Amino acid sequence: MAATVTDAMPAPLKTEAIVLRSMRYGEADRILHMYTPGYGRLGAIAKGVRRARSRFGARLEPFLRVRALLHEGRGELLTVTSVDTVLAHAALRERAATLDAAARACDAVGRLFESPEPHPEVFALLANELALLNADATQCRPANGLAFRLKLLLAAGIVPQLAACAACGEPEHLRAFSAAAGGIVCSACEAAAFPLDEEAYRFLVGALGRPLADAPQASERALRQAERAIAETAEHHAHVRLRPVLAARR
Ligand SMILES: [Zn+2]
Repeated sequence: MAATVTDAMPAPLKTEAIVLRSMRYGEADRILHMYTPGYGRLGAIAKGVRRARSRFGARLEPFLRVRALLHEGRGELLTVTSVDTVLAHAALRERAATLDAAARACDAVGRLFESPEPHPEVFALLANELALLNADATQCRPANGLAFRLKLLLAAGIVPQLAACAACGEPEHLRAFSAAAGGIVCSACEAAAFPLDEEAYRFLVGALGRPLADAPQASERALRQAERAIAETAEHHAHVRLRPVLAARR
C-alpha cells in the first residue's frame, strides 16, 4: 500500500538561526534555544554535541549565527542534524562586557518573543546587535542596550507612545511616564506616572528613530529613567521582566 502523506517524514527545516541559549543535557547532548527569521524562537536538541569528535564542534555556542538543518521529532524539540557557521562573533567573546551585553540581548529576545511566530525584523535586529558588539566593544554602553530594547518593544507592538500624552492626547507639558497609560503623559495626567526629564524623553525618541549603532548619548540619570520606562512597559504590557541594563545604584 502506498504511504499516505501523513506517514511521510516531514521535510527538514532549513533556516538561519541565532543561538540564544545552549544548555547541557544528559551525557553528551545540548538543548538549544534558537531565534530564526521565519519560525521565531525554536527549541532544538543537538545529540552527541559534547563528545570530543562531534561533527558539530563548537558551532552551537550561544551568540553564533548559523545555518541549520532541523528535523521534527516526537516531542516539542526539533533535532539538529547539521549546522554551518555564518558568523562566529569571536571578538565579542573576548571581553566580559560585550559577552554580558550579548547575553542580555539574547535573553530579552527570548523573553519577549517566546512563541514560534515569525518576526524577521527581530532576527535582523538581534543579528545587527551581535555584529555591532563584535565589531566595536564600545557598543556595550547602556544607551545601546536600551535602544535595542526599545526597538524590541516596537517589534512586539508595545512601544510606548511618545508623540503626545498617552492618556489625553495633549501634545505639550509631557513630563512623566506611565506604563499603564501606554507612554508619556502630561502634567494633568501624571497621577500614576513617574517624572521623566526632557533629556530622558529625547533619549527615548532618538533611540527609536536612529540606527542601533547611533543610539544617542545621555546622562546616567536620563538613562535610568529611560530604563524604567522600558522595563515597566515590558512588565505591564507583555508580563515580562527584563534583566537590568544599568547596574543597581550603590
Ligand atoms: Zn494628559
